[in-house]
Amino acid sequence: MSEAHSLIIQDIKAKMGGRLTIMGHHYQNDRVIRHCDLRGDSLELARKVSGLKSEFIVFCGVTFMAETAAMLASDRQKVIQPSPDAGCVMSDMAPRALLDAVMRKLTTNGRRIIPLAYVNTAAAIKAVVAQYGGSVCTSANAETMLKWAMGQGDGVLFLPDANLGMNTANRLGIPESKWARLDISGMAKNVDSNALKDKNLLLWPGLCVVHKRFKPEQIDEIRQRDPDALVVVHPECHPNVVNKADAAGSTSLIINYVAQAPREAAIYIGTEISLVERLAKEYRNEKLVRPLFPSLCQNMAKTTEELLAATLQDLEGAEAVTVPKDVARMATVAIERMLDICS
Ligand code: SF4
Repeated sequence: MSEAHSLIIQDIKAKMGGRLTIMGHHYQNDRVIRHCDLRGDSLELARKVSGLKSEFIVFCGVTFMAETAAMLASDRQKVIQPSPDAGCVMSDMAPRALLDAVMRKLTTNGRRIIPLAYVNTAAAIKAVVAQYGGSVCTSANAETMLKWAMGQGDGVLFLPDANLGMNTANRLGIPESKWARLDISGMAKNVDSNALKDKNLLLWPGLCVVHKRFKPEQIDEIRQRDPDALVVVHPECHPNVVNKADAAGSTSLIINYVAQAPREAAIYIGTEISLVERLAKEYRNEKLVRPLFPSLCQNMAKTTEELLAATLQDLEGAEAVTVPKDVARMATVAIERMLDICS
């Protein structure tokens, strides 16, 4: 049956030609990604949307990515997410009302706190961030963006991924004594701006459940077995994991790392399993590529080839990804600020 789905997709793509673009994040499974005209990490995909001319953009990924695509697309383009229920657990950890409450608390003593949101957040969060003079970042440009945000005010609120915030701070040499992990429970009732006045990096306590599964002990065990093995991980992993790895970076960095590793190298990867399996297959005759631990993103996995075929069969009837105009206007300010800074 899956070959039938594949044939349907190929057939529709051939008939639609330039009217259709299928985009896919690196964490999509092989059966889906093989049909994508464009693939990439969040930053690469966001950059590519603006240059597209096609009438339909089918986005294989999770909701915050499809929202970003919808905001960057023109009014005459329709962005469709084959699996509209594919959210992101990390993104859900930063609801808008809570961010409003935290920002109010953090700025009561007149400090200018710049919110810097990981792109893995809802459009509504990006809009709030823009209102406070902040921006967004991806794992590929977190260093540039954190450095920029640090120069804009008295401190930065990094959200929602505390691990990415800590790993980026380590790279920039921001001492741990300047960080504070916020207690945002009870609608931020414990956030005390005066108690935080010596801290200039405030961390929202969110994380990615997929990258939480990687542990330093897994790297120890590999090193014991094979001291020459290389380990590369995503910066959504805890700093204790990142610090033990040979390299850390975005999915694009991981892909390049594997490409550039010497022939016959053994490379262990700490990121979502679909990408690791794809790299293992691609390099099977040259290098040994293995997961540090097999960790699947259930939301990314919701987009199947069957669903993609069904979506393409009813492009006109499919629901478009939309973001309320006022939210989109402000969220786009945050995204474009990032694209400008990183151009
Ligand atoms: S891998 Fe983590 S951050 Fe990415 S979509 Fe899945 S839960 Fe969200």
